[in-house]
Order: sequence, then C-alpha cells, then structure tokens
Amino acid sequence: MNPSASTAKPGAGRPGEPAAGGADLHLHTLFSDGTFTPEELAQRGAQVGLAAMALTDHDTVEGCERMSQACRSLGVEFIAGTELTAEFEGHEVHLLGYFLDEHQPALLAEIKKFQTVRQERIREMVSRLNRLGVPLRAETVFELANCHSPGRPHVARALALEGLCGSMDQAFERFLKKGRPAWVPKYKISALDAIALIHQAGGLAALAHPGLNHCDQHIPRLASDGLDGLECFHSKHSGAQSEHYLAVARRLNLAVTGGSDCHGFSKGKPLIGGVRLPAVYFEKLKQARRSQP
Ligand code: AMP
Ligand code: FE
Ligand code: FE
Ligand code: ZN
Repeated sequence: MNPSASTAKPGAGRPGEPAAGGADLHLHTLFSDGTFTPEELAQRGAQVGLAAMALTDHDTVEGCERMSQACRSLGVEFIAGTELTAEFEGHEVHLLGYFLDEHQPALLAEIKKFQTVRQERIREMVSRLNRLGVPLRAETVFELANCHSPGRPHVARALALEGLCGSMDQAFERFLKKGRPAWVPKYKISALDAIALIHQAGGLAALAHPGLNHCDQHIPRLASDGLDGLECFHSKHSGAQSEHYLAVARRLNLAVTGGSDCHGFSKGKPLIGGVRLPAVYFEKLKQARRSQP
C-alpha cells in the first residue's frame, strides 16, 4: 500500500462534515484492558458529541449493563457488544459482536471459559517471570486488574508499578511480546464458532481492524460463513486502508463498522472521538440487524 495515497481518515470526518456526531463502535473499559469505568467512558463519548457508542471489551460483556444505563442518562444510543479473541487459518483475528443479548447462556458460558483461561495464563506468565528471577506475584496483577478478563497489559502495568521494569513498553519488549520469555499463547475460539455464538446471542459479527491482521485473503470465506460486517474505520487504519476495506465490504456485501478502539489512558491519549462511523453506515448496520433471519 502507498502510505501517501491518503492522509485523511474518512471516519474522522470528511471536509465539510461536522466533527461531532457519528458512532464509536469499538471501546474498552476497565472490565478488560481499558482504564475508564463505563460511566467515565459514556461521559467522554457524550463530551465529544458521539450519537452512539458500543462497548466491546475483550472476551466479556460485563460492563454493558452499567454503560447502557450511563448512556441512557446522557441521551447517547448504546449497543451491547464484545470483542472475541479468535483464530482463523492460523491467524489471530478479533470478532466484534454487536446488539448482543448479554444474558444469553451460551455466550455467558463461553465468556466464563475465556476468563478462566485468561486467569490461568496470568499465573503461567508470572511463574515464568519468577523463574527468570523477577519477583512479581500473581495476586498483585489480579488486584491491579480488578476484572475477570486480565491480560498482558495488566502484567506490564504491574511490572512497571512494582519497579521491576522501567515502563509498560519495556515490560512488553523484555518479557511479554510474542516470542519473549514470559509470553504465553492465548486461548482463542475458532472464528466460525465466534460468529455462530454471536448470532446465537442475537447479534451481528464484524471483523475488527482487518488492517492489523494480514488476513485479507480469508475475508471472503468468513463472509460466506456468516460474517456480517467489516471494521473499515479504526484508529490504526490509514485513510487508504479505510478506503480499501470500504471497497471490500461493498464487494462482499458486508456492513461497514468503525470505532476508535479507545483503551482510556492505558495506551497514551484517550482515542475516543478520533474515529467516527458516519451515521449512514450506522443506520445500515441497524437495518442489517432488523433483516437478520
Ligand atoms: P493480551 O490480550 O493479554 O494478549 O494483551 C493484548 C493487549 O496488549 C492488546 O490490547 C495490545 O494492544 C496490548 N499490547 C500488545 N503488544 C503491546 C506492546 N508492545 N506495548 C503495549 N501494549 C501492547
Ligand atoms: Fe485491548
Ligand atoms: Fe482488537
Ligand atoms: Zn479492541
């Protein structure tokens, strides 16, 4: 791809379009690896003028009820969602589920499994660190994470706060990045099972940030196996990538989604409001939901 092909982010508002409004359909709270509570996130979204928000914490729907209430009181439309860690043909892919029934038993059972395995993975990472002579305790990570879906960012933050690494980045570089000595692979659901699970919970499934996953060749197969949408607009997509995925979505008849993937302060400046799904695509997504079999 030619990085100079386009510098404007289409999702961030075209010339002449108001910066406010639109939807942010990719957001995290402290129920996974974000730093905002659902209430803080809703408040921030309202401040930047979003018309709609979806909560998509990794492998959980726990924050949705609180976020829904907070959005209602602020007059912002809310969509219950999640971001499931999945695998397709050896690639890690993330599947966004939207309009979920957050009490659906099969979804809750899968989330429970994700959480158990994530907690075991933290213990394994900490054991590896201990064997390397790094005196971190698993309980320190769990206390700091204070959620059921802990991950590497929580280990990194604990290492930094305990003074065992200079920064979170350094913790990833030295220990936690894929292939580093404390890296432990993550449980992933198959992408097709994730799509089926999202459908079973009454939702629509969209492929998150395809520009980061290097699996374009598999999108047609996912689409023919039930994928409903493609996240064309994302903070890490260039303008040219967004245009590319808009064309892919058009060709495969997939709904267009988009969001900032804001994690609060855990990755620098909060991204909320930076990428907005234009209302026309949001309306089409809702139409796709209504016309679901
Ligand atoms: P996990 O789900 O536990 O594997 O953690 C994935 C999270 O770690 C994602 O939110 C990533 O953005 C974050 N992450 C991955 N690599 C790095 C890195 N080098 N520095 C900071 N955060 C990272
Ligand atoms: Fe994350
Ligand atoms: Fe993701
Ligand atoms: Zn995300």
